[in-house]
Amino acid sequence: MRGSGKVALVTGASRGIGRAIAYAMASEGYDLALNDVAGQKIALDGMLAEMQALGRHFRAYFADVSMEDEVTRMVEAALSSFGQIDVLVNNAGILIPEPVDTLASSTWDSVMDVNAKGTFLVTRAVLAGMRARHYGRIVNIASIGGKHGAPGQAHYSASKAAIMGFTRVLAQEVGIDGITANCICPGIIVTDMGRTNLANQAERERWIGITALRRLGQPEDVAGPVCFLASDEAAFITGQTLNVCGGIVLS
Ligand code: NAP
Repeated sequence: MRGSGKVALVTGASRGIGRAIAYAMASEGYDLALNDVAGQKIALDGMLAEMQALGRHFRAYFADVSMEDEVTRMVEAALSSFGQIDVLVNNAGILIPEPVDTLASSTWDSVMDVNAKGTFLVTRAVLAGMRARHYGRIVNIASIGGKHGAPGQAHYSASKAAIMGFTRVLAQEVGIDGITANCICPGIIVTDMGRTNLANQAERERWIGITALRRLGQPEDVAGPVCFLASDEAAFITGQTLNVCGGIVLS
């Protein structure tokens, strides 16, 4: 029970990787503040109902992570309910494939706003509390797409590279207060978003073929490393980026 007595805030928690992270952290003993957009109320409420059986503190917070006022309200409400946020997992993200030639600037802005600005906004909102308690773990979900990328995903790649740069500097700024900040770069993970890269059997086989472990990832493959980076065992790891991709990217 590595999370016993600790509170984690997970964004984009209602499905896919975020959902797996939430269940993994619940099983490790964390109290959880789970975020998603208002449209995911039924899904998040269903998760909360299942988790309540564990007998700890779980709450849902509906906020768009790209909206400053919504993020401020969410973190204030979570701090007032839980008293502290020990771990932040910035998982919420969007992928809207479009080649650069036809990419609308509004689509560029949307992807950068949710993925990069959202990570910044939620991080900034939790920092004062973490600094005051001299403890914090921030795990940002980037992507191998931010290192290599794929056609049609230049804006997504840029947003994920931004998260990595943000995290490296954040780690230097907050380390003095006992806070670590790291990134995880998932590969192809079978979720609604991941299926965007698996449009047909040929694409599926191509991705499996360039993966050393010769399989696609499952959300639980990402949840374990997130729990590790959130734990006290990872106390001396900060400013790092961990590829969780089955060996597509080998650096
Ligand atoms: P997903 O299945 O599309 O789930 C993303 C979740 O984030 C959804 O619940 C979504 O809610 C929520 N979300 C989107 N915009 C939000 C916002 N503005 N505020 C709050 N929540 C928001 O995606 P996933 O595959 O689990 O991806 C999770 C993270 O891993 C993302 O950051 C993604 O970029 C990254 N990643 C995924 C893969 C992959 O292959 N799946 C690979 C590399 C990195 P709604 O959709 O209902 O709005």
